[in-house]
Amino acid sequence: MIKDNLKEVLASLKPGVELVAVSKYHPVEAAQEAYNAGQRVFGESREQELRVKYETLPKDIQWHFIGHLQTNKVKYIAPYISMIEAVDSMKLLQEINKQAQKCGRTIDVLLELHLAQEETKSGMTPAECEALLQELAQRNASAETRLANVRIRGIMMMASNTDDEQQIRKEFLQANDFYNKVKDEYLPREEYHFINPADFNVKSYGMSHDYLLAQECGSNHVRVGSKIFAN
Ligand SMILES: *Cc1c(COP(=O)(O)O)cnc(C)c1O
Repeated sequence: MIKDNLKEVLASLKPGVELVAVSKYHPVEAAQEAYNAGQRVFGESREQELRVKYETLPKDIQWHFIGHLQTNKVKYIAPYISMIEAVDSMKLLQEINKQAQKCGRTIDVLLELHLAQEETKSGMTPAECEALLQELAQRNASAETRLANVRIRGIMMMASNTDDEQQIRKEFLQANDFYNKVKDEYLPREEYHFINPADFNVKSYGMSHDYLLAQECGSNHVRVGSKIFAN
């Protein structure tokens, strides 16, 4: 039962850890069941599937886009998306800003880090992510190029898909280190004051098979799908 699975996952989370219930590939009815059990934050990774669920389900749901997002899809989700978790390029960030502006909104985003061993995983290396932050600071120094309609809320990553717990732990701790580096070395500098340190507070890592380890390693935002919806 979805309701029982949800309860079990919630009971295993430390205080302050937010659960994103990843309903992708599961029907509207499944998400509705989790909603009825009290869940309000959901994750989806495909625009069309998300649109169907958004239109059908109650409007007080906060939808997080957790997958790779193509720039040409941003306009469809911009009116209602609560957070875009996997930003991995300036081009995407600019498009989110543009569409958010059109909607008169500010959209919360996370920067996606690539730390896993797999070549296939998306995201930025820490060096690429730092370069993006630096470019953003340059753009934000001028009113004309400023990205005023996106809010950088933290980082997101997916660990390697492996049974090697040491490897997964290592990647979570690397993500933590990177988050702390941004918080301690970047945010205090004047050119980064467009990021409010109080808003930069999301560490999104951990999925069904590794979320307990993730929260042990400092995650405060886990994205759990199959453990809730598949049985
Ligand atoms: C599918 C997905 C999840 C959830 O994965 P489960 O193993 O089903 O918990 C989390 N994050 C991202 C980015 C995903 O694509």
